[in-house]
Order: sequence, then C-alpha cells, then structure tokens
Amino acid sequence: MNKSAFNRYSDYIKKLYGERIQKITVDAGFTCPNRDGSKGTGGCIYCNNRSFAPGHGIPMTVKEQVLFHMTKVAQRYNVDKYLVYFQAYSNTYDTLERLRNLYEEALSVPGVIGLSIGTRADCVDQAKLDYLGELSKRYDITVEYGLESISNETLKLINRGHSYEEFCQAVEESHKRGIKTCAHVILGFPWEDKSLWIETAKELSRLKITFLKLHQLHIVKGTELARRYEEKPFKLFTQAEYLDMVIEFLEHLSPEMVIQRVVGEAHAQTLLAPNWNVRTHDFLEALEAEMKKRETYQGRLA
Ligand code: SF4
Repeated sequence: MNKSAFNRYSDYIKKLYGERIQKITVDAGFTCPNRDGSKGTGGCIYCNNRSFAPGHGIPMTVKEQVLFHMTKVAQRYNVDKYLVYFQAYSNTYDTLERLRNLYEEALSVPGVIGLSIGTRADCVDQAKLDYLGELSKRYDITVEYGLESISNETLKLINRGHSYEEFCQAVEESHKRGIKTCAHVILGFPWEDKSLWIETAKELSRLKITFLKLHQLHIVKGTELARRYEEKPFKLFTQAEYLDMVIEFLEHLSPEMVIQRVVGEAHAQTLLAPNWNVRTHDFLEALEAEMKKRETYQGRLA
C-alpha cells in the first residue's frame, strides 16, 4: 500500500483495531457556559445562534440514538464496532453524576467500544477527568477540546471565554490519566498570520495532542461573525491558499499526531463564505496528491 503523506485517522484505526470502526454522533441535550450566562450569553462569534434555540428538544435518549444510528450504519457498512461521539455543545458541562449516566448509557450498548466527548477546557475538572481516566482503562476514550487558536488575543476577539493556558492544563491533566485528546483549530482569522499557524503546529506537537481537527475559517449565517463580515468584508482563504497553508502546517506538525480532519464542510443554506463547494474526500485527495508532488510529508520540518 502507498503510504499516505500524513497520518490519517482511518489508517490509525485500522492499525489499532484491524477493522473499520464507525462513529455515531449523539446529542445528549447539553448547553454551553458561553451561552447560558455562566461565562457569557453571546457565545463564540462564529457559532450559529439558531442551533442554540432554548429548549431544543432531544426526542430520543442517548441509547435510542445509538441504536437508531447503528441500524442505519450496519446496513451500509460492514461494521460491528462503534465509537459514540458526544458532539453538540459542551458535553462535560454538567454534574459528574449526570455525565456518568449518559456516558455509561452509551457504553452499555453492545458494540460500543468507546466515546469521543466534545467540550471546552473550562468544562472539565479533576473529578471528571479522574472518572474519564478510569473509563479509559476499559474503553477508548477521547476528549475533544475546542481551542481554535493558541493566541489569547484571538480567544478574546472571538469571545471564547477561556485562555490558551486553560486548554494546555486540561490537555496535560487528561494525558496524565491516559485519556486521548483531540484539538479543534481554525486557520484563517483575518488578524492572524502564517507565523502564528506554524507556531500552533509546534505548540500542539509539544503538548502531544493525540488527534487534530483543522478547519478553515468559514462564515456561517446568523452568527456575530457573519454580521461583521456583511458590514465590512474581510479576506478569507481561497481553497488553493488554504491547501498551501495546511501543507505547511502538517510539515511542522509532529509525525505522531493523528489527523482526523483538515477541512470543514458547511451546509450550503447556512454558509455565507467562502463558497468553495468542496467535499471533504476531494480535499483530502487533493492534499495527498499535492504533498506527494512536492515530495513532502507530515513532520518534515518538525
Ligand atoms: S462554539 Fe462551542 S463553546 Fe462556543 S458558543 Fe458554540 S458551543 Fe459554546
């Protein structure tokens, strides 16, 4: 098999388990401290308000959602092992007791081998991480931390409501307990530049983050960022510029880090800009081809 120019998640899973593992996304009805008033009410400036309509009902329990998606997925692919992805909002933002009930409800479904839990660095504490550390001894557990930028100035400008130092601490405390981590990073804030993004690759490598999800800055309708963009448009990456930037980013990244995502897709109805009309698979193939053409690879300059 031709080796990929970067460390793909699908290869990592195949190596670890010898077979395909399917992710199943659930919405357990969490909220976010940057929305409910404990940190703020406006949320991050790129976050879509409409997805935060108060009282958004979750019609199915976590177990029902897992079983529902399993049936659909099992018919399409030949899989019998699953990771449950707690994606919407901040999925550690509740009492430990409620978290325990929700996570164990998902893990109780036969075939579920682990969890991916999306959250913020300020929504974990020692007790929650101790619990997740214990779970990690029996299951495949990843905590996905939204970071978006290593610049505290940017974190203020985008109204994240936490600092880069809080992110570092949460990651270190997670690793101490054997929990895998994933960082979400956005490339393209107009006041940032290439040197900061290269520094980001180096910082994430220093922290030994397990998985990475990279995302171009895109502007979703109904957000504060969209309001500002419409008032005064600013420069966004073209698809070719972003491809170049991702290559440079990967060159400076540890070869150990596993890449879960390199580009974001948004629904055409909600996306304001940039309108690349690219599918993840096509972008991945273009990235692979361009890296091979340039005879470069993840970690070449790390
Ligand atoms: S992006 Fe995440 S942290 Fe920010 S407001 Fe939305 S849900 Fe909350």
